[in-house]
Amino acid sequence: MSISKRISSINPSVTLGITAKAKQMKQEGIDVVGFGAGEPDFDTSGHIKEAAKDALDSGFTKYTPTSGIRELKEAICWKFKEDNRLDYFQEEVLVSCGAKHSIFNAILALCEEGDEVILPSPYWVSYPEMVKLTGAKLVIVETTEGNNFKITEEQLKRVISSKSKLLILNSPSNPTGMVYTKDELVPISNILMEDNIFCISDEIYEKLIYDGVEHVSIASLGKRIKNLTVVVNGVSKSYSMTGWRIGYAAGQKEVIQAMSNLQDHSTSNPTSISQYAAVEAIRGSQEDLKRMVEEFKKRRDYMVEKINSIKGLGVVRPQGAFYCFVNIKSLLGKYFESTLIKDSLTLTDLLLTKSRVAVVPGCVFGDDNYIRLSYATSLENIVKGFERIEEFTLDTLHD
Ligand code: PMP
Repeated sequence: MSISKRISSINPSVTLGITAKAKQMKQEGIDVVGFGAGEPDFDTSGHIKEAAKDALDSGFTKYTPTSGIRELKEAICWKFKEDNRLDYFQEEVLVSCGAKHSIFNAILALCEEGDEVILPSPYWVSYPEMVKLTGAKLVIVETTEGNNFKITEEQLKRVISSKSKLLILNSPSNPTGMVYTKDELVPISNILMEDNIFCISDEIYEKLIYDGVEHVSIASLGKRIKNLTVVVNGVSKSYSMTGWRIGYAAGQKEVIQAMSNLQDHSTSNPTSISQYAAVEAIRGSQEDLKRMVEEFKKRRDYMVEKINSIKGLGVVRPQGAFYCFVNIKSLLGKYFESTLIKDSLTLTDLLLTKSRVAVVPGCVFGDDNYIRLSYATSLENIVKGFERIEEFTLDTLHD
């Protein structure tokens, strides 16, 4: 059997592997605390479910236009105006089967062999694999904890070449929770405009943001940068709708049309019922979202304090999303019982098998000195998990 070169180059998801192992342990009756979740642990709101039920009862169960129903595109345009001061026409918006699908369409529409795609690390796991599929070359820029894991103007300038086609930005970030300020985005956008480089701005965690920090979309900085940017967002995280598979992208008409053409011949429209539910999510009550953000903030505060109180661990306070990207450098090169902790994957494996705590190794996000812990789990679980993590670090650093 011979699998195509393109697909063979794609890495299997390490995260899914760990999740499967943790699940198996749970099924065996082992009490595992999971910090791996990439989705809110809240139910989708009742009023959103009602909208889906109404759509079903009204017979909205057929194909829709590939790019999405008019009502949803109107709601999305309204949202961009309201939240981001961005004006888009309906032809500049494409609804896809999750934000992941929107990003995939955008990368495929923009990149090809010979192009370079600039990706700041740590990055969300799927970006490099999607870029690889196009044959474009990945140019990974390692950000530092000192710069709050954000790409600087100097770093960006250094990697720009005549082949640079695209920069992928993600704010608030998965895995670091960092949020780019307007002052940080302005020089980045100037560089992109100077060299006509596109930007995919993944803003899926926009509404999960704390401490009054403002989310700024790079596209909102001016007409020219708006034209070069494909903004990606969706309802998965903000409205706890990961299973409904609705994401969307906005950008210049030609790019959106190309993405839509691709979608025409792959998935067609996203699920009709989910689209009606998404209209309600965007237009309806935002009270549950507020409550969810308050709860996430409480958990984040507890987790950050706890991590920074444990010898051998450290974290830069995340301002958004629901992850702590924990520095584990002090544990690397040490032994737990007789096992050498040589990298983040070994640590993750030990934490799961010895301490019954599931986390994600930093290597999948491009940085082996870290692990990612999600606080999309109850405070009770977080407290229990950290008792185990603390014990693990004490055993590792006992001398
Ligand atoms: N971008 C980022 C940064 C994410 O973390 C995720 C979900 N893990 C997505 C996009 C995909 O979201 P969706 O479920 O809407 O496809």
